[in-house]
Amino acid sequence: MHVLVVEDEKKTASFIRKALQAEGFTVDVIYNGDEAAPFAAETSLDAIVLDIMLPGRDGLSVLRQLRARKITTPVLLLSARGEVDERVEGLDAGADDYLAKPFVLAELIARVRALGRRSRAHMPVELRIANLSLNTFTRTARRDTTDICLTSREYLLLEFLMRSVGRICSRSSILEQVWGYTFDPGTNLVDVYIRRVREKIDSGHSPKLLHSVRGSGYVMKIEP
Ligand code: CA
Repeated sequence: MHVLVVEDEKKTASFIRKALQAEGFTVDVIYNGDEAAPFAAETSLDAIVLDIMLPGRDGLSVLRQLRARKITTPVLLLSARGEVDERVEGLDAGADDYLAKPFVLAELIARVRALGRRSRAHMPVELRIANLSLNTFTRTARRDTTDICLTSREYLLLEFLMRSVGRICSRSSILEQVWGYTFDPGTNLVDVYIRRVREKIDSGHSPKLLHSVRGSGYVMKIEP
């Protein structure tokens, strides 16, 4: 699970980050409200832990901005105890859950986990990284203003990579996810398809998104 934590108090943020990482989650932390929605728009996230009191845009405003951009990632709002109005306002603005500070870490983890499950039950229809989008309903891709035609296997490969943005996908995990092979067929099948997909999504565009990691596999990330 990939979780974004938006919290300016460094100690609290680091505390939450460590606890979620210990549960095996991938965690990014942002300390300023203004950077949250742009980050969420470019990253495939399973949940967002969003503090209300933030420098720049406050948490409620971030939440409205996310929902206005049709980013439906589940949000757990954090706030000081007793701010009932903010809680109601937060739920109205599209928060999925709410936790008052100070909280017990085990409860935060349990709630984030529950949000992640909900998010997986309603997988996003559109996956995005930079100006590449992939519609999981129509199975079509678009880079900037160019529509990209994909064969069904190329689509499965791109979908797997885009659901794993920032994480290295090994050849064996790709073979298993895209071809259903639990063994190595001993061919360069993966490399051939990676080349085709890269040609379609990256050729003539920047930043480059599909990268080889020597000896490990492939990763989707934004890199010039
Ligand atoms: Ca704060």
